[in-house]
Amino acid sequence: MSFCDLAVAGVAQLQPYVPGKPIEELERQFGITNAIKLASNENPLGPSQAALKAITEASKDISLYPDGNGFKLKSALAKKFNLAAEQITLGNGSNDVLEMLVRAFVNPGDEVVFSEHAFAVYPIATQAVGGKGVVTKAANYGHDLNAMHDAVTAKTKLLFIANPNNPTGTYLPLADIRAFLDKIPERVIVVLDEAYVEYNDESESSVSWLVDYPNLVITRTFSKAYGLAGLRVGYAMSHPEVADLLNRVRQPFNVNILALNAALATLDDQDYLQQTRAVNEAGMQQLTQGFRAMGLNYIPSRGNFISVDVKTNGVETYEALLAEGVIVRPVANYGLPRHLRVSIGLEAENQRFLDALATVLGINS
Ligand SMILES: *Cc1c(COP(=O)(O)O)cnc(C)c1O
Repeated sequence: MSFCDLAVAGVAQLQPYVPGKPIEELERQFGITNAIKLASNENPLGPSQAALKAITEASKDISLYPDGNGFKLKSALAKKFNLAAEQITLGNGSNDVLEMLVRAFVNPGDEVVFSEHAFAVYPIATQAVGGKGVVTKAANYGHDLNAMHDAVTAKTKLLFIANPNNPTGTYLPLADIRAFLDKIPERVIVVLDEAYVEYNDESESSVSWLVDYPNLVITRTFSKAYGLAGLRVGYAMSHPEVADLLNRVRQPFNVNILALNAALATLDDQDYLQQTRAVNEAGMQQLTQGFRAMGLNYIPSRGNFISVDVKTNGVETYEALLAEGVIVRPVANYGLPRHLRVSIGLEAENQRFLDALATVLGINS
């Protein structure tokens, strides 16, 4: 007997998500120190001082269950985005709300539409519940909204758009997404995954569309620009009825006490966010200049990472970089076998990566 035969069909065939390699693991493997990791789109500044202070204060309460309803954080988010608290669902990372969406809406055999080169969690979550992933061809590495519209059938339950997308960093103008929403039937839930929204001009925002499109769900996270990846907190903004359904499948205490408090403390830390954006812009320039100097093409990115075409096998290049103590992300599993995705780091980290890349590619720069 194999336990695999006992598992539900979707799970038996699932390829698990491959995370970035932890620094400690690399240092153990190669017996080196001073490795750097530019592989998981984390904030290179570390957490904000406000988050650290909030964690210290909240730590005396960790013998207690957290507020399962996340009242304070939801209230703060509702105020910030001019929504009702009933429109917000908190998650253990936004990954958690993405899974709740699939569990709440997708029956075995239902279709879920997403793009080629899009975030790996969409196919994994879909397959786990026996849903059928419908993958549309990318246009210039980004989402092709016409193709996505054409892929919608009577069986479509959910559609994922990542904007900016990970791992390509491609970005759709908000006007295009809004025009797309006009054409999608209301019975299809459209999930707009905005994990990297804070790196972009927030003067125009998709949040105001929730009034006009009850089938729109916007997901965001504290893992990237807010620097709290290790605490796991994200959220969805939606129609209150959708939020109610998500809450039915949500674990009662899915966001821990330290995460709730740190997120609340960082939410309006404008200085930290500004510094985050400044470091990201400078690093993006440094890397793109470095790539151009090496004659390498890259996909212009609106996130805190960039994917570069190394003109040879990406996984082998990734492995050669590991030996140099530099962890980046191969993206062959995203259909990009010659690209590497690198997270924007601090200036010295970016330089170390560029130098190591030149070395392993045999480029004199
Ligand atoms: C990182 C990321 C997320 C989720 O991250 P969490 O840490 O689970 O909040 C979601 N979508 C995209 C596109 C991402 O890159």
